[in-house]
Amino acid sequence: SITPAVVTVTGAAGSIGYAALFRIAAGAMLGHDQPVRLRLLELPQAVSAAVGTAMELDDGAFEQLLSVDIFDDPRQAFDGTDFALLIGAQPRTKGMERADLLQANAAIFAEQGAVLNDVAADDIRVVVVGNPANTNAAIASAHAPEIPAERFTALTRLDHNRAIAQLSHHAGVPAREISRVSVWGNHSATQYPDIFHARVGERTGAELAEDRAWLIDDFIPTVAKRGTSIIETRGASSAASAASAAIDHVHDWFLGTPEGDWVSAALPSPGAYGVPEGLVCSFPVRAVNGHWEIVEGLEINDFSRARIDASVAELADERAAVGDLLPA
Ligand code: NDP
Repeated sequence: SITPAVVTVTGAAGSIGYAALFRIAAGAMLGHDQPVRLRLLELPQAVSAAVGTAMELDDGAFEQLLSVDIFDDPRQAFDGTDFALLIGAQPRTKGMERADLLQANAAIFAEQGAVLNDVAADDIRVVVVGNPANTNAAIASAHAPEIPAERFTALTRLDHNRAIAQLSHHAGVPAREISRVSVWGNHSATQYPDIFHARVGERTGAELAEDRAWLIDDFIPTVAKRGTSIIETRGASSAASAASAAIDHVHDWFLGTPEGDWVSAALPSPGAYGVPEGLVCSFPVRAVNGHWEIVEGLEINDFSRARIDASVAELADERAAVGDLLPA
């Protein structure tokens, strides 16, 4: 029999958490044969909502869902956990400066990193969804010295999936025939969705990129600002698509990326592609034997270089803004 996996979801009563939990319970994340124990972490005022979600999970009668436990104490929620989906974060409120938002979240993620370091399973894998996701992941990792840094990742898979969707519409090619898209940088409006190495059905992304007007004025901003246009159109921020991307991220990390393809994820830079060491930056990645590996050796043209550098500069600024919560 397969050892059950312990999965902790923070912000479990939020919109993304709600959408993610049912797909995890149904086996979409770790496979349909993998038994799962769910741990939900919420702020005390949201515990009741999380209990209600747990009642609904119960009513799903999911074959592989062994248990659902709810906590407001991270030490209990992360005890022995194998997978942590860090979705809960402090939202930006009216009048709040960006630096205040970074600071408020840095405090949350510093605490969670330290607790994961103490109580999580040895093979812990962490994906940060709560914004500013890249910097939150860097802070959590900095406070977890005994966990290898590359186990702390931030979600850019939604950006990756959005890029595939836009390419699909533009080229009239189904998503399954599109591969090797890369998202570089920060999960923010400075992100750079790179199609120069992509395959789009019978065509190459480089060929489509020859239409620079489309690339610069349509494709890149549509992907980078998709979150805002969802808010404007739906009247609420993207939730199911973000949850779905988080599930894709962990699924591929655990079970591997498809042969011949790669995906995008933000990992602490080992200095690859000129990205300063330690910045949690999105790269093209493959999962091999349960570990992310950055796809090496891609040729980066001047067009891409300038855009990657701009997003990396933003990551460096974010790090500077929370510098006092990082070890020297
Ligand atoms: P959501 O579930 O909609 O979003 C959660 C986080 O995901 C936010 O930081 C949000 O960033 C981020 N996010 C990342 N990518 C996306 C994306 N593509 N689209 C939308 N959001 C994205 O927030 P809710 O307010 O519904 O729920 C948050 C829950 O977290 C609450 O229940 C709260 O109680 C809980 N919480 C838990 C904490 C903990 O467990 N320690 C700490 C703080 C809060 P953005 O704000 O930029 O949209």
